[in-house]
Amino acid sequence: MSAPDLPFSGPDLHLSGVVLPEGEHRDLWVRDGRLTSEPVPGAETVSRGGWLLPGLVDAHCHVGIGRGGVFVEDRAGLREQALAERDAGVLALRDCGSPVDTRALDDEPDLPRILRAGRHIARTRRYLPGLAVELEPADLAAEVRVQARRGDGWVKLVGDWIDRSVGDLAPEWPADVLAEAIAAAHEEGARVTAHTFGTDALPDLVRAGIDCIEHGTGLTEDLVGEMATRGTAVVPTLVNVENFPGFAAAGEARFPTYASTMRRLYAQSGAVVRAAYEAGVPVFAGTDAGGGIEHGRIADEVRALCQAGLPAEAALAAASWSARTWLGLPGIEEGAPADLVVYDADPRADLDTLTRPVLRVLRGRVV
Ligand SMILES: [Zn+2]
Repeated sequence: MSAPDLPFSGPDLHLSGVVLPEGEHRDLWVRDGRLTSEPVPGAETVSRGGWLLPGLVDAHCHVGIGRGGVFVEDRAGLREQALAERDAGVLALRDCGSPVDTRALDDEPDLPRILRAGRHIARTRRYLPGLAVELEPADLAAEVRVQARRGDGWVKLVGDWIDRSVGDLAPEWPADVLAEAIAAAHEEGARVTAHTFGTDALPDLVRAGIDCIEHGTGLTEDLVGEMATRGTAVVPTLVNVENFPGFAAAGEARFPTYASTMRRLYAQSGAVVRAAYEAGVPVFAGTDAGGGIEHGRIADEVRALCQAGLPAEAALAAASWSARTWLGLPGIEEGAPADLVVYDADPRADLDTLTRPVLRVLRGRVV
């Protein structure tokens, strides 16, 4: 469950501008932290003539993992990560797995909302050391229930990783175990997502009813067709896929097959995203910040999605209103908590505008 709304105190606000996604010029007020189209006498006008977007979403990041994979557990360090996202206009994060308990951040009204997936769950010695709960298949469903209760509606599996005995990416879980684990999460009211780079893990994950695929560079035409039918989403994390040639080079000497797989996946990554989008798979923007990637790069991910072939407005939706709907967060609507970002130009016309938010309103306050 996500955190309840924090007690509100702050002035009433007035904004006017072009509200997206509708694209209509409107006046909006914020009273007691919530949006209304009813004029509020005495409200302070904080913005006129801009473009107003529902608060951006980074749909795949990690708060609590710092540069080089170190755990960040001090409040100042955690705040710094969350504030880097907020400065970029990101007012909600889907945390795709953190070894650190960041729950105390929910009490800080100036920080973005965080929807957590608990800790990653991986097969023994089949993920980055120390990050995941590592276990064998027989224990997967029970651990999924534990992480579902720890999180805010998501559970994160590691679906594939290098198998050193094979020398290449390989699936981590048998199909029957995945089906049982995903059903267990759904019973707990949580959705499930999985890290996958390669192809072989995907058919079993998708057929087991998984809700989302992270990275998904190994998706094929058949798989995107099946995902579109089922409504399974993908968060391509193209900012992170830029690291694949580096992963390949690092593995080259010991694992040449893995290295060539990573190069092939890198080469096809843009085409995969375009194919998924064109097939009707819901595509969302996530940077995979935390660890090797700095927080606050949502604009880079949106531009990368557009370069891969999404229309600019769809790439924008993937980081704003569509992502919010997918995560159960409201947009700019009557009575909703006021979480919005203002730009001084139309970001649909030029996605570079996203790098320059001029105002952020979070939980009804200018931050
Ligand atoms: Zn990640």
